Parts: sequence; C-alpha cells; structure tokens
Amino acid sequence: MYYEVHSENIAARAHAPEIAQILRRFVLHRNENEAVAYEALAATLLPDFGDDLMILEPTGDGDYRWLHFGREIVRYSGATRLGQRLSGMRERVARFTIDSFDQALAQDRPLYTVHRSTQAVRVALWERLVLPTVTRDGRRFIVAFSRPLQFREDLLNAVLESSPSGIVALRFIRDAANRIEQAVVVTANQRAAELSGRPDVNLLDTDGRETLPFLHEPSIWRRCLYAIDLQRPDMLEASFTHNGATTWLRVAIAPLGDGLLLTLTDITDLTVANQTLQMRAATLALEIGRERATRRALSEEIGLREERENELRRLAETDPLTALLNRRSFTEKANAAIAASEAAGTELALIIVDLDHFKQVNDTYGHPAGDAVIRAFADLLLGQFRNERNLVGRFGGEEFGILLQGSDLASAAASARQIQGALLTRSMPVSETLALRVTASLGIAARQPSETLASLTARADQALYRAKNEGRNRLGLADPAPVAAAA
Ligand code: GH3
Ligand code: MG
Ligand code: MG
Repeated sequence: MYYEVHSENIAARAHAPEIAQILRRFVLHRNENEAVAYEALAATLLPDFGDDLMILEPTGDGDYRWLHFGREIVRYSGATRLGQRLSGMRERVARFTIDSFDQALAQDRPLYTVHRSTQAVRVALWERLVLPTVTRDGRRFIVAFSRPLQFREDLLNAVLESSPSGIVALRFIRDAANRIEQAVVVTANQRAAELSGRPDVNLLDTDGRETLPFLHEPSIWRRCLYAIDLQRPDMLEASFTHNGATTWLRVAIAPLGDGLLLTLTDITDLTVANQTLQMRAATLALEIGRERATRRALSEEIGLREERENELRRLAETDPLTALLNRRSFTEKANAAIAASEAAGTELALIIVDLDHFKQVNDTYGHPAGDAVIRAFADLLLGQFRNERNLVGRFGGEEFGILLQGSDLASAAASARQIQGALLTRSMPVSETLALRVTASLGIAARQPSETLASLTARADQALYRAKNEGRNRLGLADPAPVAAAA
C-alpha cells in the first residue's frame, strides 16, 4: 500500500488550504512542552472544519475508536464509522493509520500523511493532518483532518471524461440480511450516461438498477452479481433496448470492494456489421453452391457436346456402309500426307481398286447381297492395310483407294498383288449360307516429286482403266508421265 508520513514542512506539503489554517490554530493552542488541550482545540476546529474531521480515542488495546466522523468523509468513503474500531478498516489501511496515530501521540507532534485507500471507489488518495491532544481528564485524543487529494480527483475526472468508454462505479448498500438494497452510482462519466440512453440524467448517487437501463437486462445484472460473489472480473457482450433503440455493449466488470466498476464499450456498429457480414457469407456460400452446380451441369453439357461433335465428325468422315474413310475425308487426309511426304522427302503410292462385273452381283443376288460383298471387301482391305501410315477409303460404289506412305511403285504393286491373291483364295460372305467369289482390277501409281493428289489419282485411274480393258482381275502400273487432262 502506498503511503507517506511527514512531520516537517507540513503546510508546504499539504494540498488542502485548510491544513495550514488548522496547523496554525494547533500551534497557537500549544504551551511549551505540554500537549495541546483537546477541549479548546475541538472548540475552535469543529465549527469550521468539523465535516472533514475525525476524532479518535485509543482503546487501550492497540486500537482506536471513532468519536467523531465528519460528513464529508462519509460522503467520500460511503459510510460513517462513528463508534467503530479502527481495526475494522481494511487491514493494511488500519495498520498504517494506527501506526501513524501512535507515532503522533508518542512524539506529541502533528503528522501529515498521504495514503492510498483501497476501499473508496471515487478517491484513491487521502491526505491527513494528524494532531495529538490531551483531554482535561488526561485521555489522549487524536484529531485528524482527512481530505481526498483534490488534484487526484480532478485527474480522475479528466481521465473519466476523456475516456471513449462508459465508466460506472457502483457501491452496494445492503440490508441486515446482506441483500442488496441499492446499487449506488458513485462514479459515472458522460459517456456512460450516453451509452445508457440517458445523456441528460445525472446518475451520481442514484440507484443504478433504476437509472441504468442496461442493468435491467437480466443477463448483464446476473453476471454483475457473479463477479461480486466470486470477486472475479468478467467480460460479456449483450444488447439492451431503451426507448426503442437497441444498443450492443461490451461490458467489462471488475469487482471493487462491495461494488463494481463497469466499463462499457458500444459495439453496436461492430455487431451489426458482423451480423450483416455473416448473413452475406451465408448468401455467398449459397450462391457459390449454386454456381458450382451450374458449372458442373455446364461442363457435363460441354462434355456431351464434345462427344456428339466427335461422333458427328466421325460420321462425316466415314462411309456409312463400310466405316472406311469417305472420298472427301480421304482426299483431305491424302493431301496432308502428301504435304508431309513432300516435306520429309519420302515416297508415297496410291492403289485404286474396282471390283469386276459388280453389276452382275447386284443383278444376280440383289442389292443387299452386293452391299454385303462391299462390306466384306472393305474388311479385307482394313485387315491388310490398317496402320497409321496408310489411308483406306471408299471412293464410291465398289471402288476403293489405298494410300501407302513410304511405298514406292514396286512395294505398292506387291501390296496390290496381295489383295488380288486374297480374293483368289477367299470368298466374300453374304449370309449364313452364301459367300461369293469376286475379282478386282487395280491401278497403281507412285507419286512423282511435287506431284498433286489429283495427278496421282488420275494416273492410278488410268492404270485401272487399262487393267479393265486388258481383261480385268489384274494390276495396271501407271506411267510415270503425268496424265494430260489432270496435270
Ligand atoms: P466393271 O467395273 O468390271 O467394268 O463392271 P461393273 O459391273 O462393276 O461396272 P460399273 O463399275 O460401271 O458398275 C458398278 C455397279 O455397282 C453399278 C451399281 O449397280 C453397283 N453399285 C454401285 N454402288 C453400289 C452400292 O452401294 N451397293 C450395291 N449393292 N451396288 C452398287
Ligand atoms: Mg466395277
Ligand atoms: Mg465401278
């Protein structure tokens, strides 16, 4: 506990001007080497300074008892101690006070003391002038002027009023059964009045349970009582409604003797913003969920479309009867293959196959049987030529083209001979009970440097025409010279 005890320069040290005046009167009443007479001193001091005076008598067992307890001291400390023993004060304050009174009596001279009160809510520091006296019948009395340090109170007020938080100190007044009769507001700054929704009301000395609307909120009041019972600080956030307006407060509760110090922070804006934010977050989460579902549906749709497009492209490229490349896509891919072989300087050859006397197949066995033969022949070609380097297409009717990358005329002719050989040994299945033997004529051309597909095709066609003319079921090797019409 903070305290000071001085016996020198008292008038200069004192803050209250009364102390110098009282000290002067004390000195006037002093006769050399004699204690100051109590009755005379009391007669001069009580009328002028009685409200700030305490008079105490030693009890003979190391304690003192109050004979007088000034009204101002009651006002500041919250209760009178008249008739009570000094040892009833808080232990450290009592110890300090008894020691200083003992010292004043023992040395028989005035003392000036300053000490921190741990009990009074409003005031932290007291100054005292302690005067030893003797009564006519020889008893020793202490006369003490006791005053809160005024500048401290000013400082406290400045701090309170400049605080952005609302600050309220309550002192509980209890009945004989220890029930709270009043929760007296002993300190309240302007901010506290504003936060309570009562900026114009002077809260001091009112019952806070009546004048502070947020204490009507049971959740807040209950926590206040807990804090007192447990003598433990607490913090809570709660709302209260006053005159139709809802305010959110963060309330810090600190027990202070049999009272509370409440620090109030307005968190209405914060809370409302927070609630709005939470609502937005929920909406956003919902929207994100919807967006995700939409995106999933969309990507499924895109996948389906890609599949459909691929299918369409495949259908557009292939001949429906045989699943070989149709003429258009054969031409496209053959042009690309020619560009590649031109760039790489590799060889390339074309075989054109036409089945012999096919009209007769149709005429004899019917169109569907003809189709079956075309399909079976297509399978034969695929079986022989399907790989990445070759193109196999149906040019129309019973006419087919085979582009062989990396083949010269001789190796293309060997491939053509293989087709011919296969047709000699294999008949084309038409139904469970029917298979037909067919022959084919083949025109073979090897690409000349810089030759176009049109020219290559024309030369192969010409070779095929020759094979037909020469009796069919044979190969025609194209002239290296370009065909005049197609060149
Ligand atoms: P060649 O080639 O040996 O001179 O005699 P060809 O009988 O095969 O004569 P050409 O090539 O002129 O006739 C082709 C016949 O193929 C004509 C048509 O009836 C038949 N044909 C064309 N396309 C199809 C088809 O898709 N299916 C069937 N079943 N027959 C077709
Ligand atoms: Mg034919
Ligand atoms: Mg034909």
